[in-house]
Amino acid sequence: MDVLQMKGIVKTFSGVQALKGVDFSVRGGEIHALLGANGAGKSTLMKILSGAYSSDGGTITIGGREVTFRSPTDAMAAGIHCVYQEVDTAIVPSLSVAENVWLDRFAFGGALVNWRSLEAEAKPLLSRVGLDVDPSMKAGQLSISQKQLLLIARGLSRRVSLLVLDEPTAPLSDTETKRLFGIVRSLAREGVASVFISHRLPEVFELCDRLTVLRDGSVVGTWATADSSPGEVVRHMLGRSLEDESR
Ligand code: ADP
Ligand code: MG
Ligand code: MG
Repeated sequence: MDVLQMKGIVKTFSGVQALKGVDFSVRGGEIHALLGANGAGKSTLMKILSGAYSSDGGTITIGGREVTFRSPTDAMAAGIHCVYQEVDTAIVPSLSVAENVWLDRFAFGGALVNWRSLEAEAKPLLSRVGLDVDPSMKAGQLSISQKQLLLIARGLSRRVSLLVLDEPTAPLSDTETKRLFGIVRSLAREGVASVFISHRLPEVFELCDRLTVLRDGSVVGTWATADSSPGEVVRHMLGRSLEDESR
């Protein structure tokens, strides 16, 4: 069953057709890579999914129900949670780790956690993402890798069915990357799917179940990573092979 179906998504920016009718689906609990050269349309597609941009056409279906996102809040309410590369823009450094975990819940006015037990209630979420820190410490003191995990924990504070991770490994060490992948995999087993945007093909083939390649605003195709190869993906991204280029 697909947790997400985007169909015929179109987006034009003052004359530039960034998306020309994109179909993109993610199954429940899968880890799905979104690939494409710079300018292919990855960020635009994800901004439409996160409610940051409205599309000029096409439909979005979440868990079988067609949705319209007028704002990021609508997308969050539908169970989409995006962790962007610029983690510092999403973290409030002067608040505690626990307060940062509950930030979305406060914003939504959903079932409120008890103010007195913020920290105790944050602990299970922090342990689900493998973040072993004192929940009372200031979030500003965390490393980038820890801030990413904190932002994933924030998503888990709501009912999240799809995480979007935009080039999450760029600032991470190998050890931190392995740890993040372990968390993404364990969430997938619990039914939380992920979209993984990355240019690092070895990571894509290590982590992801399927991949979709975008080129010039159109989908080239979707494949199981087991049925594809890095060389093939590069060819799809560029529209030609590297051998052609060296001729
Ligand atoms: P990617 O994330 O794959 O690098 P983008 O989605 O950022 O690609 O960009 C796709 C196309 O849309 C590019 O041609 C880009 O210049 C254009 N584009 C993206 N955002 C905007 C914007 N806010 N205004 C105008 N053009 C944009
Ligand atoms: Mg880019
Ligand atoms: Mg981008």
